[in-house]
Amino acid sequence: MTSSELAIDIPPVAAPRRPRLLVVDDQAANIHAVHQIFAGTYQVLMATSGEQAIALCMKSPPDLILLDVAMPGIDGLETCRRLKHMEATRDIPVIFVTGGSRADEENVCWEAGGIDFISKPINPLTLKNRVRAHLQLKQQADTLREMAFRDGLTGVFNRRYFDERYQTEWRRAQRSGGPLSLIMIDVDHFKRYNDHYGHQAGDDCLRAVASALNGELNRPADLLARYGGEEFVCILPETGIEGARLEAERMRQAVEQLALPHAGVETGARVTVSVGVACIAGIADEAPALLLSWADQQLYRAKQSGRNRVSGGIAPSTPMQD
Ligand code: GH3
Ligand code: MG
Ligand code: MG
Repeated sequence: MTSSELAIDIPPVAAPRRPRLLVVDDQAANIHAVHQIFAGTYQVLMATSGEQAIALCMKSPPDLILLDVAMPGIDGLETCRRLKHMEATRDIPVIFVTGGSRADEENVCWEAGGIDFISKPINPLTLKNRVRAHLQLKQQADTLREMAFRDGLTGVFNRRYFDERYQTEWRRAQRSGGPLSLIMIDVDHFKRYNDHYGHQAGDDCLRAVASALNGELNRPADLLARYGGEEFVCILPETGIEGARLEAERMRQAVEQLALPHAGVETGARVTVSVGVACIAGIADEAPALLLSWADQQLYRAKQSGRNRVSGGIAPSTPMQD
């Protein structure tokens, strides 16, 4: 069986799209002039104040900002400082548009976190080239970051990304007091699959399983990662045990419905998965490893009780031995 025969539906790494350039200037005529230069090449967004620019960046970060220094309200320098202070906006490169070119005027731009600056009156060709160069760098950085977080075989997120996001979601749940659920998924008798069909077919099978699992994610915050080997893990923020069990059951069924032949197993001659679910709510000072080990124990229980099934529950406040 080849991967082309399997339904694989995972978005490609860093799908190409039109770069988004945000132009911030209190003078509409200046924005208009810049818009004329770039409208054919990039998606140009506009803001007439620092406050507006920050709000826009938090909602939907652009790839590059052209930021006027002198503006009423918070000026360009302060706008940049605030953007660099927030996790969600810190990586957006900022090019300052300055009125002067004295050394001290340039120095404050660097200090505020700018990546470059351009002096008024603007030379359109210089502006074009500066913007193009910085957008190229930004896109390369985005692609590398995206690749560093993807599993090479299946295209879903990798263990490194899971570890980061899990810590973040744990802290978020701790602050909010809301629930957090984990789903652990392991392919049944996968060693026998490899032995029978060969390692290459095993790889194709893992890709198809990952794609089926990924297709069951419903909310933007839900995340599927390859945890290792033939094991996957899913984070469900703000999800209680009932919701998590439903999701887990949908995932189990999605793999079963791929109907991939698996000769010589008692679980219906099909590729199946066993699934462990764990949920925690009102986190106090427990360690994040608790929920993981609980999900792992539930997975073990699903395996022990016959495979191709879901087992799950609420995490006790101390690791349960069974
Ligand atoms: P169980 O139902 O108890 O989970 O049995 P199992 O055979 O699936 O579990 P076991 O841990 O004994 O074997 C897992 C197998 O998964 C062994 C390993 O060769 C295979 N595997 C792990 N990663 C990959 C991979 O990237 N590609 C392929 N083709 N096989 C892999
Ligand atoms: Mg297995
Ligand atoms: Mg395993």
